[in-house]
This record gives sequence, structure tokens and C-alpha cells, in this order.
Amino acid sequence: MSQTAYSHKFVKAFPDKLGQGVLYVSVEFGTAAHLCFCGCGGEVYTRFSPRDWSMRFDGETVSLRPSIGNWSFPCQSHYVLSGGHVEWADRWSTERIERGRALDRKRKDRHYKGPEQATPDRENAIDLAPPPGLIRLWRRLSGS
Ligand SMILES: [Zn+2]
Repeated sequence: MSQTAYSHKFVKAFPDKLGQGVLYVSVEFGTAAHLCFCGCGGEVYTRFSPRDWSMRFDGETVSLRPSIGNWSFPCQSHYVLSGGHVEWADRWSTERIERGRALDRKRKDRHYKGPEQATPDRENAIDLAPPPGLIRLWRRLSGS
């Protein structure tokens, strides 16, 4: 049965068996876990990162953003966990799921490229052998 409310538990590590209706939050692992709120028993792990989920704890309830789409489960549940309430959202069509995934990939690609571009090239160059062309040029110039 679909649930409309949930509680939360801050844990170090996730228990072997997750309890239904509980959102487990492990700050240590930067991940939250719960059983799909449709009741299908599917385990849902949501990782916290700037490109994945973020959590808000207001002292009483935990909210997750963005919505959780269990597209890989047969139930294809889609809901938002907000202030202890499960807000059920529309099921997405296969097409929309694919579009969402593609968007997500693009967003992640951009994010992953960010830090690489920000790294100065000369820092990376320390470990790199000089290109063969450069060695040849240097040999020619130095006459060795
Ligand atoms: Zn489900």
C-alpha cells in the first residue's frame, strides 16, 4: 500500500533490513536509504551530492530534493519526500524517463568536467613524460 507519511532515522550505517516507512540518513556515507513507499519492498538509495540529492533537516523532519523516481523498479513510483509526507507525483512515460536520464547525464558530465578544467595544466604535466616531438626538437637544438 502506498504510504503518505514517513519518519526518519539518522544512522551510521544502514541496517541489513530497512524498515518500511523510515527514511534512513547516513551523513557518514552521504546517503539516504528507504524502502520504496509504494510498499513493493524495493530498496532505494539516494546519494547526497551537488549533482544528486540534497537533504533538509528542520529539527523535526527530513526532506529530500529533488523527487525520487524509482524507474528501475516495476512499480515506477515517483514521489517527493517533504517534511515527513510522501507527495506522490506523476508516473513518467518511458519517453520522459529517457529524456530525464539524458538530461541527468548531461548535467553530470558538465559537473565532472568542471574541476578538471579548473586544474592548472602544469600541475598535471609534472608526471607526464615530454612528448616525443619535443625530445627530438630538444636533441636537435642541443646537438646531442
Ligand atoms: Zn515501489
